[in-house]
Formats: sequence, structure tokens, C-alpha cells
Amino acid sequence: MSEVVVIRGGTVIHADQALRQDVLIRDGKVHEVGDSITVPAGALEIDASGAWVGPGFVDLHTHMREPGREGAETIESASRAAAIGGYSAVVAMPNTEPAIDNVVVATYVLSQGERALVDVAVAGAITVGRGGTHLAAIGEMAALGIRLFTDDGMGVQDPSLMRRALTYAAPLGVTLAQHCEDDLLAAGGVMNEGALSSKLGLSGRPALAEELMVMRDIELARLTRCPLHFLHLSTARSVALVVNARREGVAVTCEVAPHHFTLDESCCDQYDAIFKVHPPLRTTNDVEQLREALRDGRIDAVATDHAPHEVQLKELPFDEAPAGMLGLEHAASLTLDVVGTDNPIRLFQLLSRAPSAIVQLRSSDQRVRLSAHGGDVAVGEDANVVIFDPTATRQVDRGQLQSRSTNTPYHGRQLHGATRALIVRGSVVVNEGTLR
Ligand SMILES: [Zn+2]
Repeated sequence: MSEVVVIRGGTVIHADQALRQDVLIRDGKVHEVGDSITVPAGALEIDASGAWVGPGFVDLHTHMREPGREGAETIESASRAAAIGGYSAVVAMPNTEPAIDNVVVATYVLSQGERALVDVAVAGAITVGRGGTHLAAIGEMAALGIRLFTDDGMGVQDPSLMRRALTYAAPLGVTLAQHCEDDLLAAGGVMNEGALSSKLGLSGRPALAEELMVMRDIELARLTRCPLHFLHLSTARSVALVVNARREGVAVTCEVAPHHFTLDESCCDQYDAIFKVHPPLRTTNDVEQLREALRDGRIDAVATDHAPHEVQLKELPFDEAPAGMLGLEHAASLTLDVVGTDNPIRLFQLLSRAPSAIVQLRSSDQRVRLSAHGGDVAVGEDANVVIFDPTATRQVDRGQLQSRSTNTPYHGRQLHGATRALIVRGSVVVNEGTLR
């Protein structure tokens, strides 16, 4: 339900400047932005002093686990985690059970998403059942309003099938997204391949397994002229390849996940499967290079790869446990740690403006009942606004998460920056740091 809200005393982060301004929200829209707005009678006042006011964050990569694995997460619980993380919209990944590879499952997830705290966009699968052999009903799902397609969890291994998918997708105006790992090269690997994996006696997933597919898909995108988005790149070389291709005019974008720019392979040395993820945590050099590329804009977006798993599964031995870790509730703090408190424009670029452009959420779409995200906090825009306090500090406690799962790799860590308030479609869903 939409309400009248005044955000007072904050710094509004526009695309190219930060200004001390108040914001009035009414009827689900930004109604007024000005130096000093008088609070109308009956309006809710949010104190934003010391905080940044900007477009709500958009996550390109959320595993909501519904349908099929509701014990680990539901659309409802993931959306609460997203709201606490400052996200006004998330993209639900299609590796559910059954997979989102047709309009029936896509419609189910969209309708569940309508009752969620944040906007839930859907990514469709590229192949039937994510099996990698037959193209899914991409055209029908695109007609429903779906703009992103991926077999995430694995990459499309067959280059001729990937070429056909790109050729088919190009005129539909949608984007394909790839989880880059060559299955044959990565086979059996559970952590980054290198001296450490040998020492620990764990089999490795080489950087080359990722980079080879990045190389291949750059060439396929060049050939087919279809936009392609690279999911969770983890090596410095992968990013360099994408940057180079973009310079040559190939329509490629990329994201990195917080764990890949905050944690390295040495985390695996206690055989704790909480640190098992695909692609795996890489070297300290990769981490440093990813951080540099986030700061200077070579990487388009931060995406969480939020991957909830039930406790008993993550307590299995390292080589048996499933890959993946939570991300939604701490991604913005971890991004702040990279870009610094003096660069809010970059933070909003990485967490909101770029991801919303990649998944085409800049304008609303009635077909999928999604409002517009990632635009300016300006008069007439849909009111999806986050108030993020860069000075707040908090200690991560896996017992205090909104997610139904607890597999965060950051338990006990002190983080800077927190969501003070979040407004979605004109309604306040987080206020004073807690869900309303
Ligand atoms: Zn993936």
C-alpha cells in the first residue's frame, strides 16, 4: 500500500552528482525533490541525515529456491533478506525444481513474487530443464515479459546450441547470461586449482575452465550480435577478456559476486564447506584485481549469487557439500568496503543503475507487473528508493538473518554500512534498519 513519505536530511545520489536534498513520495512516485520540503500532515518522516538516498538496489542473481527447495528459502524469505540488504528488486534464477523453462513455471514465480516485499523479476532457462540439449521456450517467455535467460548453475556447454540460442534471442530484445565453466575442465573440482588444492588434497577447478568459456562466448556474441551477460566472473583474466571485447564493440557485460572480491582460496584450508562455491574462491591476486576493476568501472555490476542451502547439506564433507553461499543481506556493505565512503556514485552504479539496465528494469512493465528501478531519484519516477547509511556498523550473526538458511561465510565479521530504510513501489518496507 502506497503512502506519503518524506525523506529528510539525506544526500541524494544522482547519476553524476550527490546533493543534500529532501524527497517527497506520494502515490507510489517520487513527487518532489528539493532543498527543504515541509512534511505534510499524516506523512511518515524518515530521518536520512548522514545517509545516502538513491535508487533501490537491484540483484541480478538471486536463487530463491521456490519452487522445489522451500526448506532452504522461499520467495517470501528471500525477499525479506533482499529488503534488509537494500534491494527493491531481484532477479529469480531459474535453477528451481522444476526449472523455470516455460511460461507456466515463470507465471507461478511471478505471481508469488507479487506478494513479496520487493519486486521479483524472473530469469528463464536457455535449455529445457537446464539440460543443455534442447532450447527452452525462450520466445514464449520473452512474450510474457522475461528479459534475461540463463542455465545458471552450469553453463551451456554445447557451442552450437549456445550459438543457436543467441541467434534466436537477438531479435527478441532479450539478454542471455552465462555461468562460465567448462564442465569437462572443471569436472570433479571442488576448489580453485593450484598449489593450495594440491596441499589440501582437494581436486581443483582451474581458472581456465571459466576463462575458456568466456573466450568462446565473446566470439559467439560477436558473431550473433546478441547481448550477453557474464555471471559471477571470478578471475582477473576473465574480466580483462570482457573489457577487451567491449572495447571492440561486442555487446557484453559482466558482474562479480561479493565473495569473489572479499574471500580467497585460503578460506578453504579448514575444509569448511561454507566456503565452497562455483566458480570457486580464487587467488589473492584475483581478489585484488577484481577490487581494482570495481573501483575503476571495468566491472559493470555487483550481483549476489545468493545461494541458500540447508544446514545439514553444508555440514557435509567439502567434496560432497553443495556449492553456494548467502549474499543478499551483506552485499552492499561489502561493496562499500571496496569503493569507499567517498564514492557513493560508484556504489549505486554497481548495485542499482547497471544491473537494472542489464535486466531492462529501467522502465516498468505491466505484463510482469514490475515497477521501474535503477533510475534517478527524480520527480515522476517510480518510488523504489533506498536510504543507505555508510557509517553504520554491524556484526554479522548467522542467527539474525532474514534468510531461511544460515550459510553466510561472513559470520562474526564486522561490516560497515547498512540499510536504514527502503521504499518499494511507494511503501516503506524497512525503517530504522528493521522490516516493518
Ligand atoms: Zn552460477
